Amino acid sequence: MAVVEKESVPVDRLNEMQPEELLRWAWETHGLRAGIVTSFQNTGCVTIDMAHRVAPDLRVLTIDPLRLHQETYDFMDGIEKHYGIAVERFGPDPARVARMVKNHGEYLFFDTKEKQEYCCQIRKVEPNRRALATLDVWITGLRRDQSENRKETEKVSVIQQDGRKIIKISPLVDWTEAHVREYVKEHGVPNSPLYDMGYTSIGCKICTTPTRPGEDIRAGRWRWFNHLTADNKECGIHTDGDGI
Ligand code: SF4
Repeated sequence: MAVVEKESVPVDRLNEMQPEELLRWAWETHGLRAGIVTSFQNTGCVTIDMAHRVAPDLRVLTIDPLRLHQETYDFMDGIEKHYGIAVERFGPDPARVARMVKNHGEYLFFDTKEKQEYCCQIRKVEPNRRALATLDVWITGLRRDQSENRKETEKVSVIQQDGRKIIKISPLVDWTEAHVREYVKEHGVPNSPLYDMGYTSIGCKICTTPTRPGEDIRAGRWRWFNHLTADNKECGIHTDGDGI
């Protein structure tokens, strides 16, 4: 396994690169130790589309909490066919899910913020850690305009993950929603049907609801906690590593 040394990562140079250049760099320098981790929202699909042209063998991974809308599972199958790729799916440990459900019930996420975070930990964060164990370069679809929490997201950073360093890249971090939609239209990128049903952020069924005009993109996530945590709409996947 290659070791990422923070000093050897040309962060400043990478920050100057266009998204396609970054994707090409990731493939050329890290090959199968680089991958796009996506939940098949628009930004992730644009990233896959770009990679298809400049680095077609770049891995595509997803975290499947086993709670997604059927539309998302069907869409994922469609993306595989459209781009001729095989998406690597990382799911939760069945024994841990069974224990959680036995102790707290299937719908524990309605009870308290802590239980929601526990569910996300079991179904999303832990599988994501297993996915990241196979990567030295983690490519995400984060954008600064997605929420207050994401305003400071860096395009390229070296983070500490489970005792080692990995490079985290968000190629479209400074794109706006309008910019992404324009690319989708112009390049004929497949689009999740959930957007046409009023969703502006796509996650687990039940925990994700459509948004109303003027609401924050992620306002539909865990809507019943909006009065508590309107500014913290993260499941833990992107707050886990210690930024260094
Ligand atoms: Fe559980 Fe909801 Fe988090 Fe999905 S989004 S892992 S169902 S709490």
